[in-house]
This record gives sequence, structure tokens and C-alpha cells, in this order.
Amino acid sequence: MRYCSPFSLSIFTTFSVAVVFYLPIATVAFATTQPHSNSKLQQHLYHVNYNTKRFATADEEKEKETVETENLMSTNEEFKPRTWNPLRLLVLKMGFTELKFTSPLNYEKRDGLYNCAYCGLDLFDSDGKYEPNSGWPSFWRSKEDGHVKYKKEWDGRLEAKCGRCDSHLGHVFLDGPLPSKVEKDLLEKAPASDPRGQRTNGYLPRFCMNGSSLRFQSVDEKK
Ligand SMILES: [Zn+2]
Repeated sequence: MRYCSPFSLSIFTTFSVAVVFYLPIATVAFATTQPHSNSKLQQHLYHVNYNTKRFATADEEKEKETVETENLMSTNEEFKPRTWNPLRLLVLKMGFTELKFTSPLNYEKRDGLYNCAYCGLDLFDSDGKYEPNSGWPSFWRSKEDGHVKYKKEWDGRLEAKCGRCDSHLGHVFLDGPLPSKVEKDLLEKAPASDPRGQRTNGYLPRFCMNGSSLRFQSVDEKK
């Protein structure tokens, strides 16, 4: 029988594991690289109609969605994927949820922006971050109108997706802080597309995000 050294065996095993587990993820990620080629997916997207406090259908919001998409594309040049990290891709492209309290962003206190880890779109800022001790980085408001999109899932949860590349970010729940607990100026500037409706007495949204879907850029780094 031919001798096979432990070293070459371990190389072979590592290579096999990489091929079996990483290739499918990379393939899915590559297939979704084109930001607006997945029109079928977009047809199922829902936007929150904040006037009637219900989820509007894709048809009802089609015109609005088109406008938002055009705006995003005109203000942001065509992007290249900014990550090939397997954990990030599992979350961003396959909708996985990272384990609780595993993201360093849970403990991030600096001023700065939280960008999409896949395309770089600015999604949240430190003004909207708060700590509900859920185990995932959380925000009560998004950064800009239309930069976060929403899709109602089969179990009633509201999925949050990147407004430009459709990457999965996490979920939004309507059990965030009370409006009286946040700064009035910031509340007034909160995007109208945030799924809290225009309720003044109810709770603000809780954007429960996977840290893996975000990349933090501190104010100091931008200088
Ligand atoms: Zn993105």
C-alpha cells in the first residue's frame, strides 16, 4: 500500500473541506454580484406603508421602489463585492444569523458609519445605535431613506435588506426605545422609510442586525 504522509493528508482534507463548503457560498455570492439583475427577488419585496400601518404590496409601491433604486444607482457607482469572507457571505447572501454576542460591533461605541459589508452603502450611523442587550448590534433608525429595504417573511418577521445590493442584514422589530428616550432632533430626521409608521406614542423600531453584514467606519478613519 502506498504511503501517505499525515502532512499531505491534512492538505488534502483542508482542500476538500474548502471546496465542499466554500465553493457553493462563493457561487451564490458571485451570482448575485449584479445589484439589480435579481428582479424576481425584488418583485417580492415589501415596503412598509407608514400611513396605513400595514405592509403595502410590491405593485402598490412599484413606482416608489423604482425611484429609490434609480436614486441609489445614480448617487453610487457600480460596486464590486467588498468581501469574500465565508461567515459574512453566509449571512449576507444565504440569510444566516450569526451567534449571539459574537460580533465586536456589539461593543462599538465610537462615532461613525455602519456600511453594508458587501457593497459599501451607508446603512446606519452611531447616532441611531443603542443597546437593548439582545446580543446583536441594534439601531432605532436607519441612515437614509431607502437605504434599507424590507421584506415580510413567512413567519411574520420583517427582514431588513441592503437597499442597493439586496444583501440580508437582519430583522426589524417594533419594540425599540420610546420616542421620548431619544434625541428629538435625531427623531425628526429619521428616514420616513423606517418601519415605525408615523406613530408618536408607539415604540420605535429595533433594527436587529448581524454584525457580519456591517462594516464600521469611524469618524477618525474618514479624516
Ligand atoms: Zn449592500
